[in-house]
Amino acid sequence: MIRFDDILEKTSYFSEKDITLLQKAYVFAAQAHKGQVRHSGEPYLSHPLEVTNMLAEMKMDAVTLAASLLHDVLEDTDVTPLDLQKTFGKEIAHLVEGVTKISLVQESPPETRRAESIRKIILAMTDDLRVIFIKLADRIHNLKTLKFLPESKQRQIAKETLDIYAPIANRLGMGRIKAELEDLSFRYVDAENYFKILSLVEPKRKEAEKELKKIKRLLELHMKKNNLSSEISYRTKRLYSIYNKMKGRGIDFEQVYDFMALRIITNSVRNCYYALGTIHENWPHLPHRFRDFITMPKPNLYQSLHTTIITEKKQTIEIQIRTHEMHDLAENGIAAHWKYKEIDSHAVLKEDKRLHWLREMVEVYKEQKSPKQFLAALKTNLIPEEVTVFTPKGKRISFPLGASALDFAFKIHTEVGLHASGTKINGKTAPLKTILKAGDIVEILTSPEKQVRREWLNIAFTSTARHHIKRWVNDQDKKKNKTLGKKLWEKELKKHSIPSEAIKTHEILNRISKETHFRIKKLEDFYVLAGTGKLVLNRELMEKIFPERIMPKRAGTLLKKIAAPASKKPKPVVQVKDIEGALVKVAKCCSPIKGEPIIGYITAGKGITVHSLRCPLIDKEILDNQRMVDVSWDTSTKGIYTGRLLIKTEDSPGVIASITIVIAKLEGNITKADIVTFPNKKAQIKISLKIKDIEHLNNIKKEISKIKEVLLVERI
Ligand code: MN
Repeated sequence: MIRFDDILEKTSYFSEKDITLLQKAYVFAAQAHKGQVRHSGEPYLSHPLEVTNMLAEMKMDAVTLAASLLHDVLEDTDVTPLDLQKTFGKEIAHLVEGVTKISLVQESPPETRRAESIRKIILAMTDDLRVIFIKLADRIHNLKTLKFLPESKQRQIAKETLDIYAPIANRLGMGRIKAELEDLSFRYVDAENYFKILSLVEPKRKEAEKELKKIKRLLELHMKKNNLSSEISYRTKRLYSIYNKMKGRGIDFEQVYDFMALRIITNSVRNCYYALGTIHENWPHLPHRFRDFITMPKPNLYQSLHTTIITEKKQTIEIQIRTHEMHDLAENGIAAHWKYKEIDSHAVLKEDKRLHWLREMVEVYKEQKSPKQFLAALKTNLIPEEVTVFTPKGKRISFPLGASALDFAFKIHTEVGLHASGTKINGKTAPLKTILKAGDIVEILTSPEKQVRREWLNIAFTSTARHHIKRWVNDQDKKKNKTLGKKLWEKELKKHSIPSEAIKTHEILNRISKETHFRIKKLEDFYVLAGTGKLVLNRELMEKIFPERIMPKRAGTLLKKIAAPASKKPKPVVQVKDIEGALVKVAKCCSPIKGEPIIGYITAGKGITVHSLRCPLIDKEILDNQRMVDVSWDTSTKGIYTGRLLIKTEDSPGVIASITIVIAKLEGNITKADIVTFPNKKAQIKISLKIKDIEHLNNIKKEISKIKEVLLVERI
């Protein structure tokens, strides 16, 4: 239990007068709460002490701390506002009253009077923002002791915290408090998901922390080497924010790139960028994950550099780089201004952009007639990562930042999304991929025909829109594959002169199930399998299904023996997991080479095409994930592959010869070469060559790069 002395220890920066005030408040509260106990069985005074301790840790001023010690006397004891005013003056009495007004909110029925309660919070906050600091600290301690309350109350308090208090803390930039509020509430609001995420994440945390410790040590060395003074710490992502990210983006835990994170705190903005350079020099990073919030702060004024590196273990770690000042603001937000050292915090606050929204909300409240509308407006206003746009009729709809007009269409109605053909934003025609900006008036143009295309998956941002597009695209694919499968089957029947009525459907399915590892129940499923190429309809299979109608090809004739070596099928060079007898060929777009990472892609009726993982088609999500299958190189067979290299070089006489000699020495075989020379005495050579495997190509690449005139060698 926290004692008053513990608090005094944290306020060594207080003046004599401040300490006297604090002591007076302590004695007053102790007397008022005398004999009262909390649900936990502890003396009631333990609660205001805990709350005040939190605020002392945030280095709040003496008035806030005194009011915090007294924050429950109006609600739970006989003390009146007038008593407080007489003993402590207007300012403190006012603060305690503010906190009390908000407390009453809790007692009212949650749904019906919610808007009214929030209005009270907003008004109390605009009056004196310190009310909300006390209230937030109060809420944290109440959540910590929530287990002593009845279950129904637990859920109600936790839900209110997630709905209102955590977003308010976030809006005020108080990152640490927001995080604590969320994590303490999560398990009470949604126990099922809490424990699901817990069991998913907890086993991985230890290993992750070991790795983080290692990278931290390495980072410290690099910083030292570059004379950068820095404090480095690490963390694994908190449960609630993992859950939120997974839910919000519809992704798996594996795709949460910032589960592991390191933080570098240094002493100047310049050193932040310096540190960033040092990191990028030593680790590969994901370019699309780099964010410069120093130049472009978040709406709640959060500043930092974010970059995500890839470790040797192929894990991703997010690194945040900031100055001490940015760190303080990220953790304490607007409350950082109330530090004792600030001379005129009220003046600072006037300038604080974070308070604009507060005034805005008061305005909105005055305009809104229905409490429901106010609540909706408030919610979108509380979450800074959202944009609010309007329908032509003035209805407000909010989206996560990054949502496009297409997301808007699906939000209006699934059918509107599926039929969307274009959009008008603020009266001007615009493409569906246009990113929504706050205040846009968006109108969706539709056509009678459905317009969905696979590329829409690159445009849609929200999980609902993506879900509907995916479903439609998959349905379409299935239909196409079904039709194709049916055609292939009929063709095969015709080829062997089998009348389709010769055999009953269920009998066919039985036989196929017996002869392959597929268990097929419906004719439709059989067509789809045939259409996607998972089940290859060939003579071999037909012989097995119709042994009574198709005679096996006679082997052993003289002709066959002579022809044998020539017709001998080349062994497949790629092994496909779980799919035997599938047709396999290598993709022309990326010509994968034995030894490099690959993926198989099922093409309707054509079997499996093998792509290199570096293939741009995969990167751009042009290929459909659902049709990808795991494949691996068959290491026992030798093959010849085509590799392509781009070489940039000085245009000097002997250079082509040097390159050819190197390739010949390493037993590569040039099949094609294009040479372009430029006026600036540079040349570019594109060559195709036959090679054994990826290692072979890499060796050639390495040797070519050693040639003096060569500037760059790249696989293309
Ligand atoms: Mn309290």
